[in-house]
Amino acid sequence: METIPHWLTKQADLAPSQTAIELPDGFTMTFSELRDESQTYAKKLAGMGVAKGTHVGILSTNYHRMVIAIHALSYLGAVGVLLNIRLTETELNYQIIDAGVSYLLAADSLIEQVMHLDVEKIHAFSEINTYEEKAVNLNTELNLDDTFTIIYTSGTTGFPKGVIHTYGNHWWSAIGSALNLGINTNDKWLATLPLFHVGGLSILIKSVIYGMPVYLLDKFNEDVIHKAIMKSGVTIVSVVTVMLQRLITVAGSTKYPETFRCMLLGGGPAPKSLLEKAKSNHIPVFQTYGMTETSSQIVTLSPKDALEKIGSAGKALFPAQLKVITLENNGIGEIHVKGPMVTKGYLNNKVATEKALHSEWLATGDLGYLDTEGFLYVVGRRNDLIISGGENIYPSEIENLLTNLTSIKEVAVVGKADDRWDQVPVAFVVLNDQKMTESEIISYAQKHLAKYKVPQTIYFVDQLPRNASNKIVKHQLLKLL
Ligand code: ATP
Ligand code: MG
Repeated sequence: METIPHWLTKQADLAPSQTAIELPDGFTMTFSELRDESQTYAKKLAGMGVAKGTHVGILSTNYHRMVIAIHALSYLGAVGVLLNIRLTETELNYQIIDAGVSYLLAADSLIEQVMHLDVEKIHAFSEINTYEEKAVNLNTELNLDDTFTIIYTSGTTGFPKGVIHTYGNHWWSAIGSALNLGINTNDKWLATLPLFHVGGLSILIKSVIYGMPVYLLDKFNEDVIHKAIMKSGVTIVSVVTVMLQRLITVAGSTKYPETFRCMLLGGGPAPKSLLEKAKSNHIPVFQTYGMTETSSQIVTLSPKDALEKIGSAGKALFPAQLKVITLENNGIGEIHVKGPMVTKGYLNNKVATEKALHSEWLATGDLGYLDTEGFLYVVGRRNDLIISGGENIYPSEIENLLTNLTSIKEVAVVGKADDRWDQVPVAFVVLNDQKMTESEIISYAQKHLAKYKVPQTIYFVDQLPRNASNKIVKHQLLKLL
């Protein structure tokens, strides 16, 4: 049994007056204040019956009370089930029941909306403050094998699966990132990614382990982030592709301060044109690859390789390993990862766990290849692979090509059933203001792609179906065919 001192208690002891949380309105909280508030909160939760092993749902936008609630659970050994606020009531109830949530803590602003969910005890964050504290022994140590959080996957390829994260998974994720990016004493990490996703939550954990302030935003706003980078000493921001697109537009030709050292980009594919644009704007983008199962990023492009290997997700973090089990002789295959940040399995889902985990290697369901120097390039999901007349077609190749067209805002390529070829590629396209016809798009594709890869039909749509994590759900597109 491996234990470490409770990370927040430790940090509050080492750096009591260091800022732990900063909000754009100027509100700040130090590590000692965060420890005190979290411990008080834990005692109040204990008074309500929350104990070691209790599954407590948390439903909130990013704000300091959510951070306090999450740390409070760790003082009791309770498990936080972090719920996505964009889910429908049915989707929330599925996760709540599947995870055996017996208490739900919600942001005050959301409490009206959640009162009818399938949980017996539902409380607003601030309501807990009115309860009596119970004199319980709070955890002074964390056992790295104990479960801390459960977060459901985005449900892009099927039903969301509850991923179990231990303290050890989070610990190693933070250490792996530090060994890659280093820790600067002036670091301040901006969290606009929701804390209910593992990429957002990981910033909080890094904050307590590194002794680093988190600049917390309740929702994405490119102007606020731009200002925070320019004026508030933010040195690192974690983003997904659409956020970077919007930030680049706001930044224009403005150069970020030298102290801004990392725009950590992950969560999904990034068009090469965007990465090149960021490069020409001197924005230090670090592409990463990871998933809920790997407790945030597991593969990252180091600063020194960022410019040379544009489009690559990099190499496995120091404590992790990566291999590609090739399917064909072009080197593309399924990405497998291993490391102490990888989950031990899914909650209540032995079938999925056994399918994904073999001797601690996680089969990610993603396809990619390694270049001669071992850098990973992610090409898409195994499920999205189109096989046409025996030839493999990677939708991302076609999508990347078509997004070069300025008239095209976004595009998703899927395989349509075909009597002769089994499947043929077709493209769903959302246009910008400029018009473009189907035949213009197809003739552009014909110039650049082998015949079997050229989309047979272009379907113009107003938008692409996205899930609560804003990811394109391709199997819903297939239903439109
Ligand atoms: P589900 O597992 O339920 O289908 P999901 O895989 O979308 O949903 P997440 O854990 O939120 O759930 O997302 C992880 C996935 O995001 C990865 O498996 C991969 O497909 C994609 N992804 C993450 N980083 C990258 C990247 N750099 N390039 C391409 N895809 C990425
Ligand atoms: Mg997944």
